[in-house]
Amino acid sequence: MKNNAFPLYGAIEGGGTKFICAVGSGPSNIRAEARFDTTTPEETMAHVIDFFKQQEENLGGLSAIGFACFGPLDPNPASPTYGHILPTPKTGWANANVVGMLRNEFNLPIAFDTDVNGAALGEWRWGKAQGLQTFIYLTVGTGIGGGAYVEGNLLHGLIHPEMGHIPLRHDLEKDPFEGVCPFHGDCFEGLASGVAIEKRWGMRGSLLTPDHVAWDLEVDYIAQALTSYTMTLSPQRIIVGGGVGSLPQLLPKVQKRTRELINGYVQSPVILENIETYIVNPGLGNRSGMLGAIALAEQSLQTAL
Ligand code: ZN
Repeated sequence: MKNNAFPLYGAIEGGGTKFICAVGSGPSNIRAEARFDTTTPEETMAHVIDFFKQQEENLGGLSAIGFACFGPLDPNPASPTYGHILPTPKTGWANANVVGMLRNEFNLPIAFDTDVNGAALGEWRWGKAQGLQTFIYLTVGTGIGGGAYVEGNLLHGLIHPEMGHIPLRHDLEKDPFEGVCPFHGDCFEGLASGVAIEKRWGMRGSLLTPDHVAWDLEVDYIAQALTSYTMTLSPQRIIVGGGVGSLPQLLPKVQKRTRELINGYVQSPVILENIETYIVNPGLGNRSGMLGAIALAEQSLQTAL
C-alpha cells in the first residue's frame, strides 16, 4: 500500500454512450482517468473493475467508490433492488445490478446516485453551488435530467426526480414537432433534448447556426422548465449544463426568458435584479459528473464513519 496525502476515491460517471472513470480526491488531484464505451452492463463494468484494480496496484488502495449513473435507477439502500438500473429502453441495462458487480470485487463503501445528483454534489463541493442549501443542477444534452439538493441533502423522494419529463406548454402552430419521448411525446426532453433538436431540424444541434430559429424554441422550453422548478422547489440557484445547455448563445436568453415567465411573482432580488447569478453554467464545466462521483464517494465515507 502506497502512502497518499489524501484518501483516494474511485469515481464512475456512467453515461448512456460512455463511462468515465477516475481515481483522485478532487479537481486538483485526479491521478488517473479512463473512458469506456457503454456496451453491455457485464462488459462495461468489467472494464471499470479492471481499471480500478490496476490503479489500486499503481497508486494504492481506494477508500470508497462513487458511482453517478444514468437512470432510471434505484438509489435507496433499504430497497431490495438498490444499486440496480430500473426498467429502461436502453438494451440490456434494465434491472442490471451494477452496484452488486462492484461489491463482488471491492469491499469498500460504494455510493450510488443519479448522474445529475452526482453532478449537483460536485458543483456544491467545488463549483457554483458552494455554500448553498437548496439548488438544482440541470443537464440539457442528448437527454435532459435534473438533480436537486434540498435543505442540505440530495433529493431522492419516492425514487428520484425526473425533471426532464415534465410537461410544457407546446404551441403546435409555432412548433408542430410531435416530440421524441417514447413515454410522453412532447415532454421537456421530448421537445428540447439534443435528440429532439436533431430529429426536428434534420441535423445535429452543433451544425445549426447560433441565430437559427431552433434556439428560440430551445430557450423558451428551457425557461418554461426553470420557471416550474423555481415555483416548485424555490432553489437558490439553477445550474444548467450539458452539451446543449452549455451553449454560450443560450444562457443570457434563458435568463431573460425565465425572468419574463416568472413575471415578478417571486419577489427576490436574485431573480428581479441579478438573474445572471440565479441561472448559471456549471463551475466544473463538463467535469461536474465525474467530480460529483468523487464527492459521492467522499460523502459515503463521512456517512460510514
Ligand atoms: Zn418524457
